[in-house]
Amino acid sequence: ILEIKDLKKTYDSGDRHLTVLQGINFSLEAGDVCAIVGPSGSGKTTLLGLCAGLDRASSGSVILNGIKLDDLSEDERAQVRNQYVGFIFQNFQLIPTLTALENVMVPLELRGERNVQQQAMDLLARVGLAERAVHYPTQLSGGEQQRVSLARAFSNRPAILFADEPTGNLDEETGERVEKLLFDLNREAGTTLVLVTHDLELAAKTDRIIRIKGGTVVSDEVTSVVNNG
Ligand code: ATP
Repeated sequence: ILEIKDLKKTYDSGDRHLTVLQGINFSLEAGDVCAIVGPSGSGKTTLLGLCAGLDRASSGSVILNGIKLDDLSEDERAQVRNQYVGFIFQNFQLIPTLTALENVMVPLELRGERNVQQQAMDLLARVGLAERAVHYPTQLSGGEQQRVSLARAFSNRPAILFADEPTGNLDEETGERVEKLLFDLNREAGTTLVLVTHDLELAAKTDRIIRIKGGTVVSDEVTSVVNNG
């Protein structure tokens, strides 16, 4: 579902150039659960943004669900994102003029589902936010907003979900709840999960750990054998 070939990214500001990704290669099959780990500043978030079609690489290729993103316009990439991609990002997520509940309802309404409000409430309850349903994003903490976006991703049932530190700023109990919901989404909807995380316990529960350092892949391990054994 995702194929990354020799992906490079350089940030230019004036005459300063910072090459963050130096040629990344990997591919994921539909339904895979993958963790991307590595030190702070190694380029994980940048890589996630490129894979998700939020930003454009300097060179190399991203093929998402058979669609080559490299030469698409911003509008075309947005269409691909709307159709296939879910996000749980720190600063890129909810519609500010809609309540938590309404944010979760949007994908259900777009699909023409019934009992949309009840379904959205159930999803908010699953992320522990039933009490916050009528709050607007600005009235929620960062961790709460992130959980609303998880509930929304769940209602959207994307082919692939990119999550940047999904358990990062959550207490243990909430983190576990979020983790469970992510894996449920994978099991129930077959959603491919790409999780950037510093949480090595979470990474160990995935099928695959891709370790990035200095903008290159330093290891790429299949972990499911260990987990199943
Ligand atoms: P962390 O684990 O701390 O979140 P990361 O591995 O996700 O780090 P990135 O956020 O991808 O790392 O950043 C990699 C490098 O690219 C950093 O040195 C960062 O300062 C730089 N960088 C990120 N975004 C930009 C940008 N838009 N313009 C210029 N430099 C950037």
